[in-house]
Amino acid sequence: MKILIKNGILVTLDRERRVFTGDLYIAEDRIAAIGQTPQEADLVIDASGQAVLPGLVQTHVHLCQTLFRGQADDLALLDWLKKRIWPLEGAHDEESLYTSALLGCAEMLLSGTTTILDMETVHYTEAAFKAIEKIGIRATSGKAMMDAGEGVPSSLQEDTDTSLAESLELYGKWHGAAGGRIRYAFAPRFVLSCSPRLLQEVGEVARKYGVLIHTHASENRDEVRLVEELTGRRNVIYLHELGLTGPYVVLAHCIWLDEEEKRVLAQTGTQVAHCPSCNLKLGSGIAPIPELLEQGVNVTLGADGAPCNNNLDMFKEMHLAALIQKPLHGPTSIPAQKVVEMATLGGARALGLEQEIGSLEVGKKADVIVVDLREFHQLPEDNVDIYGKLVYATRGSDVTWTIVDGQVVVANRQLLTIDTEELRQKCNQALRRVKRRAGLE
Ligand SMILES: [Zn+2]
Repeated sequence: MKILIKNGILVTLDRERRVFTGDLYIAEDRIAAIGQTPQEADLVIDASGQAVLPGLVQTHVHLCQTLFRGQADDLALLDWLKKRIWPLEGAHDEESLYTSALLGCAEMLLSGTTTILDMETVHYTEAAFKAIEKIGIRATSGKAMMDAGEGVPSSLQEDTDTSLAESLELYGKWHGAAGGRIRYAFAPRFVLSCSPRLLQEVGEVARKYGVLIHTHASENRDEVRLVEELTGRRNVIYLHELGLTGPYVVLAHCIWLDEEEKRVLAQTGTQVAHCPSCNLKLGSGIAPIPELLEQGVNVTLGADGAPCNNNLDMFKEMHLAALIQKPLHGPTSIPAQKVVEMATLGGARALGLEQEIGSLEVGKKADVIVVDLREFHQLPEDNVDIYGKLVYATRGSDVTWTIVDGQVVVANRQLLTIDTEELRQKCNQALRRVKRRAGLE
């Protein structure tokens, strides 16, 4: 299919960071022309008064948790996990997980996220892959690995060999599926719920296959203290010694780091997924993002799971990522353009997809969003920095079109790939079923 997006403000994020009014032409799954384009197309989108951007990339979400939005408010991380989220995750069935994943993807596609790095729960990960395949988002995902730790419900406990074998089986089946739109990542949950053997073997297997590792690190002060008691090491140093640092490793949060840990992240090229709304809501802290950026760490953004933010809207994350540093480091720290770069190019790089997505350039995958700039909360429009407008005044609901892999997934704010009314009903039914099973009614 040929798609012509006409007369939009193209925020290219290309090497020169060009921003100009013009046309963008999509042929099949690729961006085929920018600026001077053919005018014949199967679909013409009038983007006058709207921005055209590369699709946003979230590098830390949990689709399996979307059903639990609002089920774990006002708790700190370890209580949030042990009292609410783990029992709920363990009570999923295949259909509830599918519904949860669809709901999360629907919300993100409608608000401009085209690519995610996702961590599932221990069981039924295949259902999430099926939802991803159906709805049309680009995703790197993997089952959560949990073979140790205190307070883990029996429904989520697994042994090391089973965890590795199931992960490898899912990798074999789903890595490269849907024409390459779906990829696999190994996802040991965090140090406190993984044995050293599991972590070490994940590192070895990931290097052998060239597959991403996605885990949490140093989100919360109690977590960091418990890791030190358990291992005698700072969290990031422990991961480093087990082989879980490097460009193929994405660590979510990284709030409580000492100077040596920051240096290790920078020297190894480890990727950091910053989740500001989650970090604020769980009272975890404010990650030292300006210092990490200064040392050359690639910092990317994610909403984390729906029960800890409570929206998966990347515009909210961009807004907060810029704001929360300013009282500590001054109003010029992390300017709006840098935040948009983190949400696009940075995310693409973290996933090893910088040749394919993250900017509007000829030859790249056609992951493109159109964002209305004419809503009252954005006006007036003259002489306003486009990055500032996107980060400080724009909302996810201003996204009008979302195209992934050359497929129109959202048109005029309507999601095309699923029955949205059915999803509305099914998510309520599924949550009731899961809560009953978890004993949390
Ligand atoms: Zn998380």
